[in-house]
Amino acid sequence: MKIDIYQPGKYLQLARQRLQLPVFMPDATLGVVRSLDSTDLERCGIEAVVMNTFHLMQRPGSSTIQALGGLHKMSAWSHPIMTDSGGFQAYSLIHQNDKFGSINAGGITFKPEASERKFHLTPEKTIQLQVSYGADIVVCLDECTHVDASFEAQALSVERTIDWARRCKSEFQRLMRQKKLPQDQQPLLFAVIQGGGDYGLRRRCAEALLEIGFDGFGYGGWPLDSRGNLLTDIITYTRELVPRTFPMHALGVGHPDNIIACSCIGYDMFDSSLPTRDARNGRLYVFGGDTVPQHIFSGDKCVSYIYISDEKYIKSDAPLSQVCDCLACANYSLGYLHHLFKIGDSLFFRLATMHNLRFIVQLMAHLREFQ
Ligand SMILES: [Zn+2]
Repeated sequence: MKIDIYQPGKYLQLARQRLQLPVFMPDATLGVVRSLDSTDLERCGIEAVVMNTFHLMQRPGSSTIQALGGLHKMSAWSHPIMTDSGGFQAYSLIHQNDKFGSINAGGITFKPEASERKFHLTPEKTIQLQVSYGADIVVCLDECTHVDASFEAQALSVERTIDWARRCKSEFQRLMRQKKLPQDQQPLLFAVIQGGGDYGLRRRCAEALLEIGFDGFGYGGWPLDSRGNLLTDIITYTRELVPRTFPMHALGVGHPDNIIACSCIGYDMFDSSLPTRDARNGRLYVFGGDTVPQHIFSGDKCVSYIYISDEKYIKSDAPLSQVCDCLACANYSLGYLHHLFKIGDSLFFRLATMHNLRFIVQLMAHLREFQ
């Protein structure tokens, strides 16, 4: 495999750019990190984003993305883009109510409530879409399950995920041959390890996917239990199933404390909508005690929250954080941010999102330093 493209804890070499690891990639689900443009993301130090095939194929739609020159040109983002397969979102939609669609061996059919038309997502189709979008990291279609699903359901999902991954790889190779792209110009192909909370199924899935051969792997399924606690044991076990010569992505892990925990376990890549959603809701991240943590691995909580709607900030002329160099902290007071939040101005969304992303980027820098 391409061992030379990956140095654990150091970097992942993509055709477009080398990613420093560990890396956090904000979710630009519909082709945008809400309220930010690409220069805002660069200013925060963001190196890559995750966009979503399930949502993009609906809005703006694949032919529109093609007409606008692909995802990079459309969003004026020249850095790497990972696209997820859409499997998790389709599963979530159908799990919510099976009138929205169905999953069988062939693939996934779904029709969201607001949509006029039906969509079909097969392993081949998801690879065709992601490659046509110009993604730098392409992800195989997998079948997600809930961590509390029965053993039979988990076992079926694992076999289906393996079968779909094989079909994805074969379609990916066909497209690469067709495009005649040299190896170092090709996107990377990642597969997702399913198996819920069952150790045997996780092993079965990881071993089969390793045998098929991929550039990297993701931890699939819910990373949290019903009380919101990280499923550390099974997440650790799954990382141990994959040799350290391959990068691993903790899909959907975005809470700072969980990022630290997963990074210590050996996960390199993270994506989540949590930091940006928290920002828009006025929950802003600061390092505990407003200092850069000296002992982020000590088990203490790394993040403290500032709830900007709190009246105690009305007349505060202090910045959000003394140790942050983002646009919000460099130029504006807590009092002004509180005011912007109260009047619902879009500037608040931009400043708050930039701050939380800058926090996560700083956290990643600390993790690299301490590793
Ligand atoms: Zn800041």
